[in-house]
Amino acid sequence: ILLNFGAEVASNAARLGDKPAVIVSGRTVSWADFGVMVAQVTGKLRAQGIGRGGFVASLAENSLENVVLYCAVLSAGACMVPLPFSATGAALTRMVEDSGASMVFASPTQLEVAQGLGAKQVYPLADLLDWAADAEPAVPAQIAPGDLFNIIYSSGTTGLPKGIIHDHQFRSRQLARITRFGLTENARMIISTPIYSNTTLFAMLPTLLLGATLIVMPKFNTVEFLKLSQELAPTHATLVPVQYMRLLAEPTFDDYDLSSYEMKFCTSAPLPGSLIAKIMDRWPGNLIEVYGMTEGGISTALNCREFPDKWDTVGRAGEGCDMRVIDEQGKELPAGEFGEIVGRAPSMMPAYHNADEKTRELLWTDGEGRQYIRSGDMGRIDEDGFLHLMDRKKDMIISGGFNIYAADLEAVLRSHPDVTDTAVIAIPSDVWGETPLGFVVLAENAGSTPEGVCAWANDQLGKTQRLSKVIAMDELPRSEIGKILKKDLRAPYWDA
Ligand code: ATP
Ligand code: MG
Repeated sequence: ILLNFGAEVASNAARLGDKPAVIVSGRTVSWADFGVMVAQVTGKLRAQGIGRGGFVASLAENSLENVVLYCAVLSAGACMVPLPFSATGAALTRMVEDSGASMVFASPTQLEVAQGLGAKQVYPLADLLDWAADAEPAVPAQIAPGDLFNIIYSSGTTGLPKGIIHDHQFRSRQLARITRFGLTENARMIISTPIYSNTTLFAMLPTLLLGATLIVMPKFNTVEFLKLSQELAPTHATLVPVQYMRLLAEPTFDDYDLSSYEMKFCTSAPLPGSLIAKIMDRWPGNLIEVYGMTEGGISTALNCREFPDKWDTVGRAGEGCDMRVIDEQGKELPAGEFGEIVGRAPSMMPAYHNADEKTRELLWTDGEGRQYIRSGDMGRIDEDGFLHLMDRKKDMIISGGFNIYAADLEAVLRSHPDVTDTAVIAIPSDVWGETPLGFVVLAENAGSTPEGVCAWANDQLGKTQRLSKVIAMDELPRSEIGKILKKDLRAPYWDA
C-alpha cells in the first residue's frame, strides 16, 4: 500500500526519538522534535483549509522551516510548490497562478517579492513554528496514488520553466530506486543546493523517508562545506559539478578530514572525467554520477569506483528504465549511433502542468505504442550499455552542414593547463550558418591569453570543428543549481 510521505516521517519520528533528523545552521533537531513540528504545522494547515487538492508554495532559501513545511504540506495531503527564487518576479507570478497555490511562505529576503505575486495569503516562513503553535497537531491525511506530491518548475536552462507534476506514485517509485544506491537509516546526508530543485529533493526525500539524518546548508561555501564535513561527519553528499570543481580548487581542501564519506552523488550537469579523477583521488569514499531529468523517464547512474574506464560516460540505465536513441525524424537508430536519447521508466511524470501541447511534444512513441520521454539530450549508448552524453540538442552547433558537439570542443579547451572552466556556443556565420565560439575562465596568474588558448585548441581540433574565437571571462553564467546558462552566453550574438 502507498503511504503518505508525511506518514513515513511521522512513524520515523515516533520510532527514532533523540536521533538527529535535521542539522542546520548549528542547530540539531531530533526526530521526536521534528515529528512534533511537522504534526503541528500539518494541523495548522488543515485548520486553514489546506488538505487534499490544496497547493502551498514556498519561496525561500534552505532552512529548518523549509524542510518542516515540505513534510507538513505532504502530510496534510496537499501539493508542495517550491518556487525557484532565482526566477524573476514575472516568472514567479506566472508560477503562482499556474500552480494555483493559495498560500506562499517566504523567507525574510523573499518576503517583499512574495507579496507581489498575487497569492491569497503570504506568510513569513521564519515564523512557521510560531504561526502553528496554537493548532492541534494533526495525523497525516489519507491519500491516493494519483494525488499530487509536488509541482517543480524546470530549471529553465533552455527556455521558460515548465511545471512538472509528480504524484505520490511517481515519488514512491523514485524513492524506492534511490534507496538501491545503498542509502540506509545510518546515513548522514549533506545537501547544499536549494530544495526547490529536483537535484536536492533527490537527496532530501529519501534521507527523511529512511529515518536518516539530513544536514542542510542554507548557502554553499567551499570552506564552510569542508568545515561542516569535518565536524558533522556526513556519510553522503549530493553536490552539483561546479561545487565539486570549486571544492577541489580550494587550496586547503587536503587539510580537512573527509574520512566519514562513504558515497557522494553528483547530478544535474556534465561532470568531466578529469574532475571525477580528482574527486576519486583526493576525496575518500565512492562517487555516483546520476543523469536524469525532472520529468523522469530517464535515469542512468555511473558507479565511479566500479567502472574507472567509463568516467567519460553517465553510466547505465537504472532498473526498469528503457533507453533508445532516435534521429531528427523520430526514427529509432541502431545500437551505437548518435542521436537524441529517449527513455521510459516506472517513474515518469503524468504531464506538464496545464500544458498539454508541451506534454505531447515531449513524448515519443515506439512501434508498439509505448510512450517514451524525449530528453532533448544528444548521445550514444556503447556496446556495454553505457551512455555517452554529448550536448543538449539546443546547444549543438551546425556548421557548414556538420554537427559539431560543443562537448567535444569543451573537452579540448578544458585540457589546457590554464583553463579552469569553459563553455562553447554557436554564433551566426555568413559562411557556415553557425560557427563555434569558446568561453574560458583562466587560472589566476595564468600566462596564457584567450588567443593563445584558441590557437592551441584549434591545433588539436578537426578542420570543421575549429573555434572562431575564444573569450576570457571571470566566471561563466550559471543557474542557482550550477548549470551553465548557454542561452545567456548566446543572447548577445543572436537576434531575439
Ligand atoms: P529546462 O528543461 O527548463 O531547460 P533543465 O532541463 O536544466 O531545464 P532539469 O530537469 O533540472 O531541468 O535537468 C535535466 C537536464 O540536466 C538533462 O536533460 C541534462 O541535459 C542535464 N543533466 C542532468 N544530469 C546530467 C549529467 N549527469 N550529465 C550531464 N547532463 C546532465
Ligand atoms: Mg529539461
